[in-house]
Amino acid sequence: MLTQENLPRIHLNNSMGWSSRDNNLRRNTSKPTSTPLPIVKKPIVIKSQEVKKTDLQGLDERSAKNVASLHIKVQQIFKDWILECQTLAKTLGYEYKAISGNRSWDEQAKIYAQGRSAPGKIVTNAKPGYSNHNFGIAVDMGVFESGKYLDSSSPSKAEAFHRKASEIAEKYNIEWGGSWRSFKDYPHFEYRTGKTLSQLRQLVQEGKDIFS
Ligand SMILES: [Zn+2]
Repeated sequence: MLTQENLPRIHLNNSMGWSSRDNNLRRNTSKPTSTPLPIVKKPIVIKSQEVKKTDLQGLDERSAKNVASLHIKVQQIFKDWILECQTLAKTLGYEYKAISGNRSWDEQAKIYAQGRSAPGKIVTNAKPGYSNHNFGIAVDMGVFESGKYLDSSSPSKAEAFHRKASEIAEKYNIEWGGSWRSFKDYPHFEYRTGKTLSQLRQLVQEGKDIFS
């Protein structure tokens, strides 16, 4: 008679869900380590050829270029959202394009200087590391009608469309700059990482990925 006592033991699972036999196999394949390995503090750098590029086909050239400048983890998300907005824009006779994407910290320093230590009028309140553009997770969108840039020629019309785009953005976890209380940035959209700018700066300064 088969009792609990004489059942084959290999089917008994440990807490990790592997059978103890699997666990032993895993142990046997690893090399013996006499001295513990040092903890590597440097970030793991993925060689460019190992990074699978996002297929940005379907987007217009300008949007594709700007989406390609973003962090690899958000490219597909922004692509899908933009495509959905572009379909809606078409029904209203508009074109909707990403006109800006990632901005290096050097570029941010230059535009921050504008209207302050450099000529021109003030275009941003964000110092380097204080804009989500500096982390590759933000885009600025433009509304066009028959090639005319509505954000400058007809701001209220442009704003109305950005608002529609922001409703679609919610399901992609993308936040609209037009919803901000203190400073409304209507063309601006950014991915919600759940981290503060200060936390993002810290990760970059430590050489870590912002999604780590
Ligand atoms: Zn922006």
